[in-house]
Amino acid sequence: MKRTVKFKNGQSVPALGMGTWNMGDDATRRSDEIASLRTGLDLGLNVIDTAEMYGNGRSENVVGEAIKGRRDEVFLVTKVLPSNASRQAAIKSCKASLKRLGTDFIDLYLLHWRGSVPLEETIEAFEKLQEEGHIGSWGVSNFDVADMEELLDIPQGASCMTNQVLYCLEHRGIEFDLLDQDRASHLVTMAYSPLGQGGGMLRNQTLVNIARQHQTSLGPASPAQIALAWVLRQSSVLAIPKAGSAKHLKENVAAQEIILTAEDLAALDKAFAPPTRAVPLEVI
Ligand code: NAP
Repeated sequence: MKRTVKFKNGQSVPALGMGTWNMGDDATRRSDEIASLRTGLDLGLNVIDTAEMYGNGRSENVVGEAIKGRRDEVFLVTKVLPSNASRQAAIKSCKASLKRLGTDFIDLYLLHWRGSVPLEETIEAFEKLQEEGHIGSWGVSNFDVADMEELLDIPQGASCMTNQVLYCLEHRGIEFDLLDQDRASHLVTMAYSPLGQGGGMLRNQTLVNIARQHQTSLGPASPAQIALAWVLRQSSVLAIPKAGSAKHLKENVAAQEIILTAEDLAALDKAFAPPTRAVPLEVI
């Protein structure tokens, strides 16, 4: 099932997007990474997430190359570092990102995490960038419950479109409070590292067993596909797995076909316990 999410400004995008952290870091993988992003666009995944921090701009460069001639198909998300989030530095950072991305417009510009610059000042810069037509809208990342409350108390804070946070089977803390808080404020929650960064989580025996019981149009399901389908089951959540090859990208797209049963979900709750109390937001 191909879900979409709707931002509060009315824009709808597919609930499955593409991450790009580490892309561009290894020159031998570059052509595969570009092929992966282009395959994603071919298959209708138009959200691409990057950041000025990733490889000091190398990821944005890869994205720029991948979307050359296809800018109209892309909903482009990038992020400013907290150390660059002041009134003037944010404008400079945004323009540098635009250059690396080879475009004159960023659809959604995020504060990567909260730093020492007052939120009011960053929002002022974001609003200016929006007025001048450099960005379409703005949001935040790695904001916990109290950070979001503070943000939404600021005039213009209500213009925030999204909160991008860690969410996968082994990091479920946001289910206790933040996810519902985001929903109540009509924010899309962008789930980063939905595949647990391809690490040990994917070797969990319950996940492996559940994968054996599912099929996609590509063949038997994999643990990664189950982990992704599990994140995608949540309304208002936009998952942005990073696939460094067209093969992984296609598998991630096919994960949208998987419908987890009540038994699957119960087994996953046993293997990866949901939070029973508020926990500080985990970050990577
Ligand atoms: P992730 O998407 O959970 O995992 C990426 C890893 O999974 C890579 O090693 C990838 O390998 C592998 N993989 C992808 N598809 C697969 C498949 N179908 N089967 C098996 N393995 C697969 O981790 P992530 O890159 O940390 O997170 C995703 C994106 O979220 C990032 O790229 C970035 O855009 C964003 N992010 C944001 C923040 C933030 O602070 N806002 C923090 C972390 C991440 P290959 O490369 O070989 O395909």
